[in-house]
Amino acid sequence: TQYVYRFGGGVSDGGNGDKNLLGGKGANLDGMAGIGLPVPPGFTISTPVCALYYDSGESFPDSLKAEVATGVAHIEAVTGKKFGDAADPLLVSVRSGARVSMPGMMDTVLNLGLNDATVQGLAATSGDDRFAWDSYRRFIQMYSDVVLGLDHGRFEEALEIAKEDNGYHLDTELSAGDWQKLVAEYKGVVEELWGKPFPQDVHDQLWGAIGAVFGSWQSERAKVYRRLNDIPGDWGTAVNVQAMVFGNMGETSATGVAFTRDPAKGDNAYYGEFLINAQGEDVVAGIRTPQYLTKAARETAGARPLSMEEAMPEAYAELARVFDQLERHYRDMQDIEFTVERGKLWMLQTRSGKRTAKAALKIAVDMANEGLITQEEAILRVDPQALDQLLHPTLDPNATRDVLTKGLPASPGAASGRAVFDSDTAEKRAAAGEAVILVRVETSPEDIHGMHAAKGILTARGGMTSHAAVVARGMGRPCVSGAGTLAINAREKLMRIGQREVREGDVITIDGATGEVMFGAVPTVQPELSGDFGTLMLWADAKRRLKVRTNAETPLDCRTAREFGAEGIGLCRTEHMFFDGARITAVRQMILASDEQGRRAALDKLLPEQRSDFVEIFEVMAGLPVTIRLLDPPLHEFLPHEEAEFAEVAAAAGLDVETLRRRAAELHEFNPMLGHRGCRLGVTYPEIYEMQARAIFEAAVIVAEKSGAAPIPEVMIPLVATRRELELMKIVVDKAAQAVFAEKGRTIEYLVGTMIELPRAALRAGEIAEVGEFFSFGTNDLTQTTLGVSRDDAARFLTTYVEKGIYARDPFVSLDVEGVGELIALAAERGRATRAGIKLGICGEHGGDPASIAFCEATGLDYVSASPYRVPIARLAAAQAAL
Ligand code: PEP
Ligand code: MG
Repeated sequence: TQYVYRFGGGVSDGGNGDKNLLGGKGANLDGMAGIGLPVPPGFTISTPVCALYYDSGESFPDSLKAEVATGVAHIEAVTGKKFGDAADPLLVSVRSGARVSMPGMMDTVLNLGLNDATVQGLAATSGDDRFAWDSYRRFIQMYSDVVLGLDHGRFEEALEIAKEDNGYHLDTELSAGDWQKLVAEYKGVVEELWGKPFPQDVHDQLWGAIGAVFGSWQSERAKVYRRLNDIPGDWGTAVNVQAMVFGNMGETSATGVAFTRDPAKGDNAYYGEFLINAQGEDVVAGIRTPQYLTKAARETAGARPLSMEEAMPEAYAELARVFDQLERHYRDMQDIEFTVERGKLWMLQTRSGKRTAKAALKIAVDMANEGLITQEEAILRVDPQALDQLLHPTLDPNATRDVLTKGLPASPGAASGRAVFDSDTAEKRAAAGEAVILVRVETSPEDIHGMHAAKGILTARGGMTSHAAVVARGMGRPCVSGAGTLAINAREKLMRIGQREVREGDVITIDGATGEVMFGAVPTVQPELSGDFGTLMLWADAKRRLKVRTNAETPLDCRTAREFGAEGIGLCRTEHMFFDGARITAVRQMILASDEQGRRAALDKLLPEQRSDFVEIFEVMAGLPVTIRLLDPPLHEFLPHEEAEFAEVAAAAGLDVETLRRRAAELHEFNPMLGHRGCRLGVTYPEIYEMQARAIFEAAVIVAEKSGAAPIPEVMIPLVATRRELELMKIVVDKAAQAVFAEKGRTIEYLVGTMIELPRAALRAGEIAEVGEFFSFGTNDLTQTTLGVSRDDAARFLTTYVEKGIYARDPFVSLDVEGVGELIALAAERGRATRAGIKLGICGEHGGDPASIAFCEATGLDYVSASPYRVPIARLAAAQAAL
C-alpha cells in the first residue's frame, strides 16, 4: 500500500484528493496543485497510517521510511534546496489534517529543518540574520512545546527577561544578536528539562514531529471536540509536510486568512484579514489586530492601516484570481490561508468555509442563481438544524440598550446571560440551568467546553477569524470578538469598561450581529422569514414528498406554524386546554364527582370552552387537516400537589378537604406513565371523550357555516393497545358526530384514527387498521415503552449511554431507527395490508429531527408533525430526504 502522496511543482499524486485518505487539508492541497495554483510543494502521509500507528504501539509501518524519503526528495527537487543543507537549507512545516477540519485542535510545527548549521545558511540565503535567528528560536520553542512536551512558560520567561535586560518592550526590538543569544538560552532550557540536547539531526526532527501530530489525535481537547461534533475516533489524521514559505521576510511579505464570500452574512464579496511581515499563526492567534483585505471593507470599518488591495495590489489581484478559480473548482465558498513571500503569492490551505445559517442560505441561493450549483445542491447545502439560528429572536430594535462597548460582530444572534470569566465556571453554571456568557481575553481550544456551555461568547482580543469567532460560528453561538475596551481580570472574576464594572454573575447581553455589548437583559423580537429563506423553502417544497404538519394547541402557535409553512395540525393535545383559567375548576369538579351524573354536569361547563378553542384553531387552519387527540394524561395531574392548595381547591369545587384528599389518594399511581391514562380514561369514563367529540363537531359545523370551508377534523385516540379499545372509542366518537349532525342539519367529513405508541399496537396494527382510519406514531411513548426507558427520568443516564456508544444519539431526540424504527415499519406494513393507503404520520418529537425525518421518508409515511419552530427544519429535511 501507498502511504505518501506528493503534491506541488506540477505533481498531484492524490489525483484531486480523497478526503478520507488524505484528510481535508491534504486533499485540498492536492486539489489546488492539480489545478495549477501556487502551492508550496510537499507530501501527505495518509490517514490509515494514524490507525496503524496506534495499533502497533505507536510505531510506523516499515515501508513508510522510504516513502517519506521520496517525499522529501520531491520537495528538494521542486525548491532546489536540500533538507539539512548548511548552505541552502530546506525548511518544512508539519501539520495535522483530519477528514473534517478541527480548528486549532491538533498540532503544527513550523520552520522544521533549522539547526546550528542550517541557521547560518538561512541567514545567508535570505540575507537577513535577524529573520534567521528569530525563525530558529521560534522553531525551538514550538518543537519543544509540541513534540517534546516541555513547559512553554520557561521559554516565554527567557524572552521576557531578555527584553527586560535590554529595556525593550516589543519583540520587534530584538536584534539578530539578541535572538542568537536567546537561542543559546533556549537550548539550555531544553537540555535542562528534557535531559538531552535539542535535536540537531533534521531527520530526527521530522520523525519527532510526525509522531507528535499523530499523537495529538488522541489529545484531550481533540477528544472533546470529536465528541461534541460526532467525529469518530477511528478516522485518524493525516500528516502534511510542506516546504515553508515566509510571510515574515519584510514589508513585501505577508500572511492572511480569507473567505471567498462573507461567512457571517453570505455576501458575495472577498472577506478576510492579513498582516504584513508576519507568520501564519499570528493572524489566527489574534495577537496583532489584522488588516482588511479589500479597500471597501477597510473604508466601511473606518480602519486606518491600508488594506491588502491598497498595500499589495499585485499579490491581491493574483489572490482574487485564485478565489474565482477555487470557487469554480470546488463549487462552494472557500476558507483559505495564504502567504506572500517577497511579493509572490502562495496558497497554504483551502477548505469549505464554515458559515452562519444566514450565510449558508444566502450562499446556497446565490450560487444556484449564478449557475454554479443546481437547486438540488442548494437544498442539500443547508443544514436543517442550523435554520434554528435564523428562526429565533433577535434584539428588539426599539428596546433601550445600556451599551457598554462594541466589538466585532463575529457570529450572529443575540444572547443574554450571566457573565463568567472562565470555561469551567461556564460549564458548571450552565449545568445548573443558568444562562451564561463566557467572557475571555481570547479563547483557545482549551475553552471548547465553556463555549459550548455558554449562550454567547465575548472576547477582548482577536478578529473575525480568531479562534473564538470561527468556533462560535460553527457551534451557532452568538459571539462578539475583539472588544478592545474591555479590561478583563479573570482572576478577580470581573471586567472594567471605562468607569463601569461587570462582575461574575451580572447579566449582560451581546449582539453578534452588531458587536454591541450591553448591561442587563435586552428584549428580543421574532425574525423575518423572507428573502433567501423563502426562496430556499420554495425550492425545498417542490422537491419533498412528505407533508409537514405541526404540533400545536393554541391559536398563537397554530398561526406561527402556518407562517412557517405547516400544512395542518398533526397533534393538538387537548389536555393543555384543561388547565386554562376557570376551566381547571370544572375539570376538578368532573374528576371529583362521585357518579356519572356529577361528571356530566361538570363536563357541560367545559363543553363551550372546548368548542371555542376548536373554532379558533379550525379558523386558523382553514382548509387544512387538524388532528385532535382526546384526553391523554392521568386525571391526578389535574389535582393540586401542594398541601397548601387543598383547602382552596376544595372550596372552589364545593367539597370538603377530606373528600378531596381521599380522592387524590385514590387516584395516586406508582407509575402514571403506564397507568390510567390515554384511551383507558375513555374506556372507563366515556362521557369525557363524548364531550370532547361533541365540542369538535359543533365547532366544525360553526366554522363550516361561517366560512363556507369545512375543516377536516381527524379525531385521534391515544395509548391504544388493542383493536377493541379503539372500536369502543370510535363508537363514542361516531355517536357524538351523528348526534351533532342531526341537531345542526349538516354533515362534516371526519376521520377517527389512533396513535401507535405502544409496541402491542404496532404489532397488532393489522387488526387495529380494521377500525382506525389513520395512524400517527407517537414516538415519545413508543420509544419509552419499546426501550423500557422513562422519558422523564432518562436524562440522568442517557448521556453516559451516548458517550459509551450504546445509542448513537439520545433516542428521545433522534429516532432509534433499528429498534423503534422496526416497529414503525412493521406497523406501517401491517396497517397498509388491511387498509390500503391508510394515512400515516409521526407526531413524537422526532418529527422535527432531520435524521428521523429521513427514516420517515424511507418508510413512506405521509407526513411528519413538528413543533412550530421546527416546521421549516422539517420542510428542508424532508426535501433533503427525498433527493
Ligand atoms: C408521543 O407519545 O409521541 C406523543 C406525541 O404524545 P405525548 O408526547 O403527548 O405523550
Ligand atoms: Mg404519547
